Amino acid sequence: MNNDIKEVLYSKEDIKDIAQKIGSQLTKDYAGKNPLVICVLKGAFLFMADIVREIKTYAEIDFMDVSSYGDGTESTGEIKIIKDLDVPVEGRNILIIEDIIDTGRTLSCLVDLFQHRKVASVKICTLLNKPERRIKGIEPDYVGFKVPNEFVVGYGLDYKGFYRNLPYVGVLKPEVYENN
Ligand code: 5GP
Ligand code: MG
Ligand code: MG
Repeated sequence: MNNDIKEVLYSKEDIKDIAQKIGSQLTKDYAGKNPLVICVLKGAFLFMADIVREIKTYAEIDFMDVSSYGDGTESTGEIKIIKDLDVPVEGRNILIIEDIIDTGRTLSCLVDLFQHRKVASVKICTLLNKPERRIKGIEPDYVGFKVPNEFVVGYGLDYKGFYRNLPYVGVLKPEVYENN
């Protein structure tokens, strides 16, 4: 599995450090606000686990599963809600935790959905940001790292369901997906 990686971009330690930094900022920003912290499955599951343990104030946790990519490396342009939230969101302060913002389509759809559901506020926290590919005017409020315009995997991010268990973020060798 490690042989399929062209280059490691961010190590386990890098990610732990950034999760601590973002977590302490979130602790300040959300004190007294009882945020609903939403993990966008599946890619954000590891980052979510790191982030929420660094939020040292009351926070409710929920999960949503949306898909925008199918199995490949290109966006389809719309999202499908595979699992919705368990709790109502009206009047809540929402913090969305994402693995990566690429075109911004997924988050744009999610933000619209939450606004339609009359939330008090909605902010975005993402482990990775790929700003070069943005086509929607969505910017994250909290960002771990910027990544170049290459397909990355690991630390929750997959290619065809694999590589999520890599403890770092790395660039997948193009021959891995070009030959599939
Ligand atoms: P967007 O809607 O912003 O184009 O893409 C959002 C989703 O596409 C991410 O949550 C992620 O699941 C997937 N995605 C985008 N870029 C990458 C990438 O470089 N690697 C992986 N593994 N997934 C990506
Ligand atoms: Mg995602
Ligand atoms: Mg994926």
